[in-house]
Amino acid sequence: MDKIKIAMYWGAGCGGCDVALLDIDEKILGVASIADIAFWPLAVDAKLKDVEAMPDGAITLTLYNGAVRNSENEHVAKLLRKKSKLLVSFGSCACFGGVPGLANVTNREEIMDYVYKQTFSSVNEEGTIPLHIAKMPEGNLELPILYDTVLMLEDVVDVDYFMPGCPPTVDQINQFLGIVTNHLTTGSPLPPKGAVIASDKTLCDECGRKKQVKSIERIYLPFEIDIDPTKCMLEQGVICIGPATRAGCGAKCLNGNQPCRGCMGPTAAVMDQGGSMLSALASIFKVSDRESQLSEDEILTLMSQVKDPLGTFYAFTMPKSIIKRKIKERKKGAVKQ
Ligand code: SF4
Ligand code: SF4
Ligand code: SF4
Repeated sequence: MDKIKIAMYWGAGCGGCDVALLDIDEKILGVASIADIAFWPLAVDAKLKDVEAMPDGAITLTLYNGAVRNSENEHVAKLLRKKSKLLVSFGSCACFGGVPGLANVTNREEIMDYVYKQTFSSVNEEGTIPLHIAKMPEGNLELPILYDTVLMLEDVVDVDYFMPGCPPTVDQINQFLGIVTNHLTTGSPLPPKGAVIASDKTLCDECGRKKQVKSIERIYLPFEIDIDPTKCMLEQGVICIGPATRAGCGAKCLNGNQPCRGCMGPTAAVMDQGGSMLSALASIFKVSDRESQLSEDEILTLMSQVKDPLGTFYAFTMPKSIIKRKIKERKKGAVKQ
């Protein structure tokens, strides 16, 4: 069999997904035995023009990690889509917008103002804001356009498979590479288009902690109490996003006695991870059952204990949520790019 071509791209993300692919250790040799790396900026010196010169569909598999946050991310996503037979939304930033997606609580104008005007920099004391095109003595200098709204990969191109996780686990990666390798070598079928490479259950189904308490009176931040490692976090008053999160990570954070932050995103049964978690919290507070007996003030007092609700309930999924972004009025005279 001729070697296939694979590609990996790093959009708006932290680079952890690139490292996760390297983490599959010796299995990477198995990949290398069937595949040549056509494009992977972190690991090989291939250029975009090399990809542009390839015939459409020449790359068998592209793993795109990171959200789509600027014009370069979108351009490369569209180029790789055209050149790839299979495109995988790799990691929570690509699947749901991830942590960069929290920028949707503000906008480009405010971000630029904060970073370049309000924050002191010893190398940019004048607070110069970078332009898309800057005229320099040597010629025009062009930078990607930063978008107002952070997007998911599926917002800009058709995606074949989704592999959530921040980053995806070694097991998920190995499972998927095994499926693709078997497909290429034995002709075994690929998963249906749109499949999520992770469990269909919630993290609570996978978590071994004891659940007994039916209601709680208050919420604690993890450092405010000694968390019993055998009992459910939520039942101890610590917000754990497990009820609204897809299983498949092996309950990593719980094993470290820390609550789940929701990085695997919602299951297929959940439309909005934050909304689903709010409803789980309301039921353990008994807000939903006792709603008629509780005054609005009591409900507000209970819910006001949740510090940073957006960052708690939508830490990884703001662009995929029903809210998607906070609407901000553009200041008069602000430059549109
Ligand atoms: S999903 Fe997590 S590890 Fe991957 S790029 Fe985003 S922040 Fe980094
Ligand atoms: S809420 Fe968290 S700690 Fe409780 S069972 Fe679910 S995953 Fe486990
Ligand atoms: S426990 Fe939650 S936040 Fe931690 S790795 Fe698993 S899904 Fe992600």
